[in-house]
Amino acid sequence: VVTLTGVTERTLVLVKPDGVSRKLVGEVVSRIERKGLDLVALDLRTVDRELATQHYAEHDGKPFFEELISFITSGPVLAAVVEGPRAIAAWRQVAGGTDPVEKAAPGSIRGDLALETGSNLVHGSDAPASADREIKLWFPNL
Ligand code: ADP
Ligand code: MG
Repeated sequence: VVTLTGVTERTLVLVKPDGVSRKLVGEVVSRIERKGLDLVALDLRTVDRELATQHYAEHDGKPFFEELISFITSGPVLAAVVEGPRAIAAWRQVAGGTDPVEKAAPGSIRGDLALETGSNLVHGSDAPASADREIKLWFPNL
């Protein structure tokens, strides 16, 4: 019998300001834990414009960029480093697709708890290279 085991990865998870203000931090942490992923680091902080624009650099120039930066800097976020087998894809599955109505499956965080693409509660890195970059940006001492 061959057992396929995912490669251990780390990913950056954020509970965005809408999630913190809606008191969904516990819900999100609970879903990370129930999936079986490990918490490596957790930090509640308010993001400045500098960090926000670096974090979302790939979206610079898009029509929603300014709205995105104002939103992510509008209140505290919970930043987390999460680890486990195929953690990047596993977390994106738990989070759900970007548009909470058109893309996020029922049972996912966005599918269950969000309505709008601009306030979709959580972030997750989308590939090993971006996870690396984002973890270094948010947790330089890790
Ligand atoms: P994801 O967060 O699922 O990786 P993207 O990286 O494409 O999605 O976009 C980053 C964030 O920018 C999204 O989570 C969402 O908050 C916001 N966003 C993306 N597309 C739009 C859009 N068309 N209108 C408003 N906000 C958007
Ligand atoms: Mg993304």
